[in-house]
Amino acid sequence: MRVAIYANDGKKSQNVKKKLLTRLKERHFALDDLHPEVVISIGGDGTLLSAFHHYQAQLDTIRFVGVHTGHLGFYTDWRDDEIDDLVISLESDNGQSVSYPLLDVGVKYADSPSKVHYLSLNESTLKRISSTMVTDVYLGGEFFERFRGDGLCVSTPTGSTAYNKSLGGAVVHPDLEVLQIAEISSINNRVFRTLSSPMIIAPNDWITFKPHGSNFILTVDSETYQGRTITEIYYKISKKRIHFAKYRHNHFWLRVQEAFIGIENED
Ligand code: NAP
Ligand code: MN
Repeated sequence: MRVAIYANDGKKSQNVKKKLLTRLKERHFALDDLHPEVVISIGGDGTLLSAFHHYQAQLDTIRFVGVHTGHLGFYTDWRDDEIDDLVISLESDNGQSVSYPLLDVGVKYADSPSKVHYLSLNESTLKRISSTMVTDVYLGGEFFERFRGDGLCVSTPTGSTAYNKSLGGAVVHPDLEVLQIAEISSINNRVFRTLSSPMIIAPNDWITFKPHGSNFILTVDSETYQGRTITEIYYKISKKRIHFAKYRHNHFWLRVQEAFIGIENED
């Protein structure tokens, strides 16, 4: 099996990486950063997010494994003190995997006739800082609302526990192939009206934003794009998915409970 390790710069992650490298070499794994079959990310959810973007051209042939250094994450199944168990699981690997939906972001810029595509694991936001963002929102090609406010966030199911959750969006079970739109401070009064609640969009539907004016900030996960005038953005569920090597069962709602509520007994 060809394995790559993708660690963040933190001291702890670097130590875990060293230990894991030693174990993998002892067990005669092939280390291959260019064309790995399994990518082991060491750090937090943010590290897995950058590992995903680093290898996003090879999603069909890669399975990810997340090791967390620090608090429990959503893309990380393994604690840093479980390296030996992880290596045992890798040795007896028989291709087990679980996959999750990704967000396809298609952007039409004013300076180019063709669309630019970005792939998102968590979410993509459109924002404006300089003055109120005004954007027409279409669902399935039909006009839905004229949004005024700070911005809009479109998230994947696995991204629903990230920025989306801070915006009051729902936590979505990742077995569901849906997208969610959450508002960032919409203006609502007698003149301006938006739905004002998060929306869950069906698998075959698509979302279009037609922003008015310029100076928009587009984010895709940890990346920010600004400077070019955007005329339209399309969001739909991508044909691509992210695959994780699945060696143990994780109950999604328990993970949510552990991350946000804490282990408090019901006595
Ligand atoms: P960051 O500022 O270090 O990340 C913000 C927090 O989001 C970190 O605690 C990160 O966990 C956590 N996170 C990332 N993906 C998550 C997920 N799918 N479910 C639950 N928590 C998640 O920046 P980053 O590490 O590069 O992560 C980028 C992400 O930050 C963006 O995709 C966005 O979702 C999130 N973000 C959130 C807000 C907000 O809540 N107001 C604002 C901007 C961006 P780790 O510490 O484990 O990395
Ligand atoms: Mn982070």
